[in-house]
Amino acid sequence: MKIEKDRVVRFHYSVAEAGQAPVETSRDRDPLAILFGHGNIIPGLEKAMEGREAGESFKAEVTAAEAYGERREGMTQRVPKKHFGDQKLSVGQQVVLNTSFGPRAVTIEKVGMSVVDVDLNHPMAGKDLTFDIEIVEVREASTEEIEHGHVHGDGGHHH
Ligand code: ZN
Repeated sequence: MKIEKDRVVRFHYSVAEAGQAPVETSRDRDPLAILFGHGNIIPGLEKAMEGREAGESFKAEVTAAEAYGERREGMTQRVPKKHFGDQKLSVGQQVVLNTSFGPRAVTIEKVGMSVVDVDLNHPMAGKDLTFDIEIVEVREASTEEIEHGHVHGDGGHHH
């Protein structure tokens, strides 16, 4: 069964900045499960996976524009320190902050006495990425999964 819209894909991945060692992998846990064609993963990866089948392994080079977007200037925001709770903060560190848009990964730029400057760009923004992908399973999605826009059961949502 080939990967196409409204099918569920379970896959392992490693991701690295182009030419560097992997920064993240799913190989030490269960494969990731996504509903294909619903924007569950970055656009460049959806393109690279389309038409593949279970058992295939391949590399995908994804440009920043097709991954997490280009870095944007002027994305620094000053946040009261109390929003970070008791966490120890250091420059360059990535933390998840609850914003009015929901939880968001940000990078610490400057730590003051009572305020913290954070960069709201996605940590992988502006980076060309290389993925190592292994397709584990492809199946039809259920009507309910398509309505919800995400996968249920193994590797997906439980609710
Ligand atoms: Zn659901």
